[in-house]
Formats: sequence, structure tokens, C-alpha cells
Amino acid sequence: MAEPSVPGSDDAGLTLPCGERVSARQIDMGMRDLDCDCGETHAVVTDVHPPSRFVPETLVQQLRATTETADDFEEFGTPHMLGMVREEFPEAVVSSDVSEDGQVGYALLWVADFDSRRLHEIVVELVVEMMEHAVSHTENASASREFEEQMRQFDVGEFVERYRAERDFEDEHDEPA
Ligand SMILES: [Zn+2]
Repeated sequence: MAEPSVPGSDDAGLTLPCGERVSARQIDMGMRDLDCDCGETHAVVTDVHPPSRFVPETLVQQLRATTETADDFEEFGTPHMLGMVREEFPEAVVSSDVSEDGQVGYALLWVADFDSRRLHEIVVELVVEMMEHAVSHTENASASREFEEQMRQFDVGEFVERYRAERDFEDEHDEPA
């Protein structure tokens, strides 16, 4: 028997870069990786994930202080990070507005072709680039040089490794550090 159609109960989903179709209801807020039918693991991000999933809260505060956001979001956050990733890898990241689906606890969903570890590295790389750009536009040449020097010694892979080890990413109740 066909279910009656109830407003707000549309099963929102999206087609992944690999071609598989996934329903938002298969993805809960605590999920970081999706084991896909295609055999690959795809990174999953929702708008309820704090940006501190990727970088320390102190850095998030700095980004908020230095970044103008030209959209509906009040301050720099996870949607901006994923927006940057999509700009770099338009073919590899899909997103969906699932706010109409009353059964999922988030409004925006992103799924990447690559896994959450690779996504993490990309986000950190893009944040570093963004900060380099911001610093290079300051009048303070010595601060700029100092930052560049710090970044030359910064190892993205090592940072991500350590950051992920320090925080339990499988924990659904993960809170901003
Ligand atoms: Zn897949």
C-alpha cells in the first residue's frame, strides 16, 4: 500500500560522485565516513559538525575575526570550509539541502568522493592558504615573514594525524574542543 504523502517527510538524498544514490536518512549526525556500495569510503559532513572537527577552536576564532562572510551564515564555519573544498574539487564533492526532511537532525549534507582523512587534509591546506593570503595583505611585513616561516615547517599530514588521534571522531557526541 502506498504511503500517504506528508509534507516535510520527503526523503531527501543525493547522488554521489561515484554515481550511487544515498538517502539522508542513511546518514546520521555522528557519521564521518560512508561505506558506499561502490566499495569506496566517502567523507560525510553535516552543518551540525563544528569547524573544530578540522582545526583547533583557537584557529576558528582567528578565522572568524579575519574573515568576512558574504552570505547568509553569520560567521565563518563548516559550510564555508566545505564551500572552499567544493571550489577546489567541484567534481568530487556533492551537497544537499535536506532541511525539508523532518527526520534528519541537520540541514546541510556534504559527501566527498574521498575519505574523511583526505578531506581533513584538504580543509587544513585550504585554511592555511587562506591565512597566508590574509597575512600577506597586512602592512606588517615581519609578521607576514614570520607566518610564512612557520608555515614552511608546518606538516599538514602530521597535523591531521595528531588532531584525529586526540579527538574521537567516531563519537556522536563530539563537542567543540
Ligand atoms: Zn561510492
